[in-house]
Amino acid sequence: MRIVALAGGIGGARFLRGLKAAVAPGDEITVIGNTGDDIHLYGLKVCPDLDTVMYTLGGGIHEEQGWGRADETWSIKAEMKEYGIGPEWFGLGDRDFATHLVRSQMLTADYSLSQVTEALCVRWKPGVRLLPMSDDRVETHVKITDEAGTRAVHFQEYWVKLHAALDAEAIIPVGADTAKPAPGVLDAIASADVILFPPSNPVVSIGTILAVPGIREAVAAADAPVIGLSPIIGGAPVRGMADKVLAAVGVETTAAAVARHYGRKGAPGDGGRGVGLLDGWLVDTADADAVADVEADGITCRAIPLLMTDVEATAAMARAALELAEQVRR
Ligand code: GDP
Ligand code: CA
Repeated sequence: MRIVALAGGIGGARFLRGLKAAVAPGDEITVIGNTGDDIHLYGLKVCPDLDTVMYTLGGGIHEEQGWGRADETWSIKAEMKEYGIGPEWFGLGDRDFATHLVRSQMLTADYSLSQVTEALCVRWKPGVRLLPMSDDRVETHVKITDEAGTRAVHFQEYWVKLHAALDAEAIIPVGADTAKPAPGVLDAIASADVILFPPSNPVVSIGTILAVPGIREAVAAADAPVIGLSPIIGGAPVRGMADKVLAAVGVETTAAAVARHYGRKGAPGDGGRGVGLLDGWLVDTADADAVADVEADGITCRAIPLLMTDVEATAAMARAALELAEQVRR
């Protein structure tokens, strides 16, 4: 079986670890990773979501934090601070720095981000084929208003520096409109047996991947069933700022509203911006009353425990998603 999953950082990576434990030997998993969170710091290209997937699946992640390397040290950052060079708010540890150095060195030598990602994965052996959504630069910006007025800041500044304390007035994936899907992305979607949307952020992770021209259309046109898992439980994100960025695109923070935002496959969806994508949707048991609501929109829906407390609980979620895919397969 060929499984394709779109993924952001922590929510995507944790789900993928469960998915790997749930699939049969011989099944192939292709991950299309969000690169809209990428940021250039100290002349280096940092790809937080790709790295979170790579470190989590490769056994190098800082487990409690969910991002960055285990057993990290911070000498470079301290030295930079002595030079008065920031940003202080973004955590890049010494071990992590090595990844960004390798990546940036290869990009400078004209390798594409896909080639770099493949090279980094030679070390990490994530057990999945990890593809960036695009080799072209895409950067999510967030429109905010504060004492300084209205302006757009980099997504990392909004989330890591400002802690998403201000309302997000708009989400702008700068560069997405002219970006091309990375090599292999459209083929993987077209030849998939199942397409999964992990419980990643529907706006700044999955939404950004879908904003690359051709990707949304490929998912909508794919023969494979498309199954999503809600990142929203009981009207709130499990962690992160999904509520803020959902509000920015006019979507309520509920499991049912996120399903409607993705839309039923084949139907007009996503607030009229595109076509609908979902055949099936999993909500948490706390949202069991949303099932009828989602099914009324033509999306097959089940309520199961959706907290990724450990790998076994997460594997059960992945198995439920694969079972639902069989039930809705045309
Ligand atoms: P990020 O790039 O690190 O923000 O990660 P993602 O976009 O992949 O995932 C963020 C989303 O994961 C958030 O909206 C969370 O609500 C969701 N999430 C995190 N942990 C869990 C969990 O245990 N269960 C579910 N259902 N969602 C989760
Ligand atoms: Ca992210």
